[in-house]
Amino acid sequence: MTATQTHCPYCALQCGMTLTPEIPLRPGMPGVRLEPAEFPVNRGGLCAKGFTAADLLDHTDRLLTPLVRKEPGNRDSPLREASWEEAYERIVTAIRTSQQEYGPDSVGCFGGGGLTNEKAYTLGKFVRVALRSSAIDYNGRFCMSSAATAANRALGIDRGLPFPLADVAEARTVLLVGANPADAMPPSMQYLDTGRANGAKHIVVDPRRTNTANGAHLHLQPLPGTDLALANGLLHIAIREGWVDEAFIAARTEGFAAVKAATNAYWPERVERMTGVPETQLRETVRLLATEGPSMILTARGAEQHSNGTNTAQAWLNLALALGLVGKPFSGYGTITGQGNGQGGREHGQKADQLPGYRRLDDPAARAHVASVWGIDPAELPQPGRSAYEMIDALGSDAGVKTLWILASNIVVSAPHSGNVVGKLRQLDFLVVSDIFRSETAELADVVLPTAQWAEEEGTMTNLEGRVIRRRMALPPPPMVKSDLTVLNELAGLLGRGEFFTDEPEAVFEELRRASAGGIADYAGISYQRIDEEQGVFWPCPSEEHPGTPRLFADGFPTASGRARFIRVDHRDPAEVPDKTFPYVLTTGRNMQQYQSGTQTRRVRALTVALPEPRAEIHPDLARRHGIADGDLVELRSRRGAATLRARLSDGIRPDTVFAPFHWPGANALTNPALDPHSKMPAFKACAIAISRAPEG
Ligand code: SF4
Repeated sequence: MTATQTHCPYCALQCGMTLTPEIPLRPGMPGVRLEPAEFPVNRGGLCAKGFTAADLLDHTDRLLTPLVRKEPGNRDSPLREASWEEAYERIVTAIRTSQQEYGPDSVGCFGGGGLTNEKAYTLGKFVRVALRSSAIDYNGRFCMSSAATAANRALGIDRGLPFPLADVAEARTVLLVGANPADAMPPSMQYLDTGRANGAKHIVVDPRRTNTANGAHLHLQPLPGTDLALANGLLHIAIREGWVDEAFIAARTEGFAAVKAATNAYWPERVERMTGVPETQLRETVRLLATEGPSMILTARGAEQHSNGTNTAQAWLNLALALGLVGKPFSGYGTITGQGNGQGGREHGQKADQLPGYRRLDDPAARAHVASVWGIDPAELPQPGRSAYEMIDALGSDAGVKTLWILASNIVVSAPHSGNVVGKLRQLDFLVVSDIFRSETAELADVVLPTAQWAEEEGTMTNLEGRVIRRRMALPPPPMVKSDLTVLNELAGLLGRGEFFTDEPEAVFEELRRASAGGIADYAGISYQRIDEEQGVFWPCPSEEHPGTPRLFADGFPTASGRARFIRVDHRDPAEVPDKTFPYVLTTGRNMQQYQSGTQTRRVRALTVALPEPRAEIHPDLARRHGIADGDLVELRSRRGAATLRARLSDGIRPDTVFAPFHWPGANALTNPALDPHSKMPAFKACAIAISRAPEG
């Protein structure tokens, strides 16, 4: 039996693992033994999700053939098995009908941050070249977009961590804002644990006392939606105490004066009132960051998934720049990417406004370069389309998408205001969903396409450090299951544009290298062979002689001036604040045993035994006020919908805040789709709710 080195199908840590085929569990299905590998990121560690990932491969719920509606056009009729020919025939007819009647932009695609680089690249090209449509975006818009926008503005580049994860172990002070790696990516905790064992101090900013906060030196518990004020308040103290790095600011940045002036309004007493964080904690946090370095500031979705998420990430970047942390060893600002290929997924053209290499779709030079690689006229390239939620919200409307293909996304569970999402999907003329399982979104589709999984395909992923790695095939997909790459290729052929596409992963990657060359995310020097030999290569890597770039910003910033930019940002209230009818704040997040919308992990027995259902985390004081005991059913209500969950009482959460995990249907029935004006990120992390005890049964 040949062992295959590959990576976990789930989060952005992309832990290395070894797969060895073994006796099948059931006739006709492959079996595989999964063991952790000594890859430089996970160093032999895996979390419960990774250890059980092989369960997905031969799961009884697995989609093994295409499905179509028994009565075409009637989504209330049952789904039945079909041949690929029949499925394709229905899809191509729907595409042609929509485009003849409503134009090219009436057909669109919604992608995912779990797609390999090759698939993300091909999907972006498929929409622009085969469909000639502008309608494409992906679920990463709901994940990384605020931090990405802020980093692009300040640093001229968006790479989640601009240093290897191992640097975290060497930092003396680490500030984690809205990040809970102990639950989200447990093997990464080895770096924090090593640092702490060597005397490093960790500070966690989170309205909940998470497993990460439990081990921290300091835990700051701000009211959700006030992180920007908190960051500006910390900068105010740093300026007042003379802790800013004047030499770094003068030599390597621009725009500090305006930011300094803005922080005058964030004096500690006011920030304590706004955030609920005591002044003593504010002072100690800045003191540690400024005087006990090297120091890092790491943000994640808790800071970023707000209707002012970009400016909030910007405020943390301002603080990191003012303290002179960026571009120095074991120091800096980074954002912890969530999805498996959240980083690569946003570099190769899946976003509504981007082309491969992180190029802008509205930049004439970028259009000319990519068009030349694709062999088309630049004028054929459409202009930027709508962002993810804007696209969903316009589905079925006169100017919106009429035929939609969703890949690697379960937006019925993962998008905000899920009641609206379901309503909009029902308004479509035609919906295609590609997935491994019949997700909640697939249940609404006209056609469901079964896709090959992580261990059944070749390709590359880019992890949270910007390290490009190989996903390798350990076993073939079941006979009637196809890779998305093959489906994209075959559909392009049926649409008369087949000559522009291939489904051979390495050939796609070679084209991706050319398309990205000279761009911000430059993969020109990265090859499958180099990845194999070097255990991954860090972008940017502009030539085969280039060693790759594990650490950014040592010599400069890829901005017009070569300097990092301070950008003035000010607090504004969340799009929805508590009132008499909805007096509390809902915030959402992860459980250790689940991943994203749970399409995969809710089907893994060991994970569901460990955590059978979602729990709403409620402070005992708040529970007492409403007669709620631990384990009771509670109904959470917002202006958009309601969800019933079992209560878990915890004095580790603020008494004015309720936490609900987003891995099951429910939490996003409540969340607010108010969008950040810069990144178009919805306000997942703060909305107003009411709570009451719900009857059993
Ligand atoms: Fe997989 Fe992430 Fe767990 Fe590693 S930490 S095993 S990549 S889910």
